[in-house]
Amino acid sequence: MNPNHRIHLCLAKMSDTGAEQRFIQEAFDANWVAPLGPNVDAFEKSLEDYFNTSNLPHFTSHLNVAALSSCTAAIHVALLLLGVGEGDEVICQSFSFCASSNPVVYCGATPIFVDSDEETWNMSPELLEKAIKDRIVKTGHKPKAIIVVDLYGMPANWDAIEEIAKRYEIPVVEDAANALGSTYKGKPCGTFGDLATLSFNGNKMITTSGGGAIICKDEATKKRAIFLATQAKEPYLHYEHETIGYNYRMSNISAGIGRGQMTVLENHINHHKHVHELYKELLKDVTVQDNPNADFDSNFWLSTILFDKELDTEAFCLKLDKAGIEARPLWKPMHLQPVFKNTPSYVNGISEKLYKTGICLPSGPWVSDEDVKYIVDTIKAAIV
Ligand SMILES: *Cc1c(COP(=O)(O)O)cnc(C)c1O
Repeated sequence: MNPNHRIHLCLAKMSDTGAEQRFIQEAFDANWVAPLGPNVDAFEKSLEDYFNTSNLPHFTSHLNVAALSSCTAAIHVALLLLGVGEGDEVICQSFSFCASSNPVVYCGATPIFVDSDEETWNMSPELLEKAIKDRIVKTGHKPKAIIVVDLYGMPANWDAIEEIAKRYEIPVVEDAANALGSTYKGKPCGTFGDLATLSFNGNKMITTSGGGAIICKDEATKKRAIFLATQAKEPYLHYEHETIGYNYRMSNISAGIGRGQMTVLENHINHHKHVHELYKELLKDVTVQDNPNADFDSNFWLSTILFDKELDTEAFCLKLDKAGIEARPLWKPMHLQPVFKNTPSYVNGISEKLYKTGICLPSGPWVSDEDVKYIVDTIKAAIV
């Protein structure tokens, strides 16, 4: 048993300078304790600045960010913006957290699950095209949208996916909940597809305690996103409603935490990458997931390992748990979840194999070099 402390996967860590508390104090002093206010505006601005940095040659237009209550809410709003509704089908990455696909059901639409490729563990471009063709044959129309994830921080195979989506003229939502700080061919995750979403839950790259954002390609779309996220109030004092809205905006207090966290974002990203390098160096006998080639630069939000054979990953994680280490099996694919048992899916066995042979390891800003050595020793002792 590690005598000192329990080692978590990824626990929130505030800046050493107290920036988060200063922004919260400002909100208290001004009595801006509401789901809007100066911290929300400034947090959105600092995210926009982050993505619109001038040394990135890719942008012809300015990206617009709206801060929302969660990434799940942001995906829901993204689907509403794309007009997803009753009877539509939306292609989703099976190998992900349920939050990537649940909003499809909130819209009254049906998710269509697509399996992963071996390189990135994200949506297989090959299977994506197969699924699109097959849905057109079976239903007579195209899926309404595609939701692609940069899982564990690893960018998806974006060139291939965007090419297919363009050819079939289907809009793409990038679920970049895990991928703030990752890049593909030098372009940051959160800027792919037509709309993208981020998470600031307590266990992500940075946190607002709980929160998310939607990244839009123009200002009108951002305005529409905020309209839908604030109960769709038409511009009258008496509250006129022509459409159903949601209460999804981020609070000014949460956004104060987010502003402070932006000052340590770069440190956090570097730390996650450093922890990943250490795992690679020390864990010679197991496969540590790595960038497939130089096009990919994962933030390694969570370092993940694969064993060379199927084993009881649940039991393995419980062993680590007894040693004070939080670990978790890789995502159980959505097409294997009881709640989605009758949902159409296009599978190749890859996500199921990952689920059965892999676990994720502590990687967050509190994880020290000593911790990594202790975790590696514990893993080596537990594999027998
Ligand atoms: C955490 C997560 C989400 C949901 O984020 P919330 O802000 O908690 O709603 C969505 N997708 C993925 C891949 C995630 O890991």
